[in-house]
Amino acid sequence: MFIRIRPLKKLGQSFLTNGRISRQIITCAKLSCEDTVLEIGAGHGELTGLIAENAGKVIAVEMDKKLCRLLHKKFYEFKNVEIIEGDILKLDIRKLTWGGKINPNCARTSRLKVVGNLPYYITTPILMKLFKEKDLVSHLIIMVQKEVAERMIANPGSKNCGALSVSVHYHAKVEEVFPVSKHSFYPRPKVDSCLMSMSMRRCAPVSVSDEELFFSFIKGIFGGRRKMLYNTISRVVSIDKKEVEKLLLNIGINPKARPENISLKEFADIFDLIK
Ligand code: SAH
Repeated sequence: MFIRIRPLKKLGQSFLTNGRISRQIITCAKLSCEDTVLEIGAGHGELTGLIAENAGKVIAVEMDKKLCRLLHKKFYEFKNVEIIEGDILKLDIRKLTWGGKINPNCARTSRLKVVGNLPYYITTPILMKLFKEKDLVSHLIIMVQKEVAERMIANPGSKNCGALSVSVHYHAKVEEVFPVSKHSFYPRPKVDSCLMSMSMRRCAPVSVSDEELFFSFIKGIFGGRRKMLYNTISRVVSIDKKEVEKLLLNIGINPKARPENISLKEFADIFDLIK
């Protein structure tokens, strides 16, 4: 049945064909009738159907017109499935939760669970969007590329640690649930995947005075990941190298360390000092 509509590469279409994995995703999401789920990239609706059986409501977002037509037909009789045709990156999530669309039977759960086998070409923008709206989202149970999973969970000291890792650890508790072989998808992607579970933090683990500025600072720093910290910081914030070196030494951070070895707390300290 997957073959009837030719998959569109440009939309990152790679459909899960292994029913066992889909069921495991549902188990991992620990759904109840009180949950409203935002599904990103519903595709043919295999996961959508399972979510609908287990949650109070599913709001399934899909960008492909043809697939949306198919989804509308498939879920015509389901009262708890809403299909939204459009780009997840442009969707106003706030309207879904407080714009009267939330299932009245689930009124207590105003925070959404996000579930999806993501379109991989926009994994990072999707995460950034959800982080910005984290007061509206409680959990993420998402399929991502293995390499992205490794960057998401990386801790300081790991070569995979980068701006994405810092951002993920700041906003959520993240866990790698299980790896998924590329053979579980059609068309088969070049790389393996991984199911990730994230629970959004209500309080950040470190305090920073200006989150937006903090993360653009972090992004700038990892732009020079092979360089020594004092060099990169000096470039990013246009302060003399010697001055930066002194500031770092003052708070006990080795100016010659590489960004991937710096902890979230240390980044927050550096940011506060320099800001
Ligand atoms: N959940 C399905 C499909 C996953 S493939 C399954 O597991 O089988 C990713 C899906 O995301 C595709 O259906 C693709 O059309 C959709 N998609 C791609 N870009 C999107 C975007 N910007 N917004 C919403 N959906 C998108």
